[in-house]
Amino acid sequence: MRGSVPAPGAKTRRYGGNTPCVEVRAGGNRLILDAGSGLRALGERLRDSGGPVEADFLLSHYHYDHLQGLPFFAPLAEPGNRFVFHGPRREGRSVQDVLEGQMVPPYFPVTLDQLARAAIEFRSVEPGERFEIGVVRVTSAELDHPGGNLGYRLEFRGRTLVYATDVEHTDRPAESLVELARGADVLLHDAMYVDSEYEQRRGWGHSTWAGALATAEAAEVKTLVLFHHDPERDDRALDAVLKRVQKQFPRTIAAREGVTIRIAGKARLTEPAAARYSRRR
Ligand SMILES: [Zn+2]
Ligand SMILES: [Zn+2]
Repeated sequence: MRGSVPAPGAKTRRYGGNTPCVEVRAGGNRLILDAGSGLRALGERLRDSGGPVEADFLLSHYHYDHLQGLPFFAPLAEPGNRFVFHGPRREGRSVQDVLEGQMVPPYFPVTLDQLARAAIEFRSVEPGERFEIGVVRVTSAELDHPGGNLGYRLEFRGRTLVYATDVEHTDRPAESLVELARGADVLLHDAMYVDSEYEQRRGWGHSTWAGALATAEAAEVKTLVLFHHDPERDDRALDAVLKRVQKQFPRTIAAREGVTIRIAGKARLTEPAAARYSRRR
């Protein structure tokens, strides 16, 4: 959930420093939203869970922070596992071209083909496309971000999660995103900047917390998850941002490493047992 580049260290320990990777489980299906550095830890957990691993990756776009976990995703190297990579066509290149193209020397010593013992497939996603992954209905929408970025709406048995990382708004929430997120139970939304930072970074493709909040209100979502935290935002500063947003939109969470959100009627937050941390300020 960290944006742009991993930000490990004492000051980001509570929220975590890994870049975007979100596991979604719905009715026996496993979807993985983006392959940021958080994917390594997810891979270890899946490897240790026993039994074959199957998952569908939904990739938003191909900036480093959304891909850099892939070469370190252990289940990829295990025969018997199966993965499908869904992602947009960019710069004339398919999702397969892009993923293979980032795993070649001198950037990385092992190619995807050499690494993958699992069965893998690739599937292009068009902006605005609707399709199904098992029991999950997926809708994509193009978001405003340099080079393009797809947002995804996932629906399963009347429950809806919308993933909108890396998106910039003008002075109003983007209509296409409001439409995508309409009535969602949970909206994960880019909240990289505070207003003063945004003034220096217009056109960089990211939102302020105020933009995330305005989108959540316009789309009438039930729970807002602040996502893609600035790597320079330490835990205390992020606490302050969260508190400020909650004043106006109480059902707001700041994305945190290892946290589980259950969507069953009302979205509920479950802390992982391993993530007990000191709340000392
Ligand atoms: Zn990003
Ligand atoms: Zn990006």
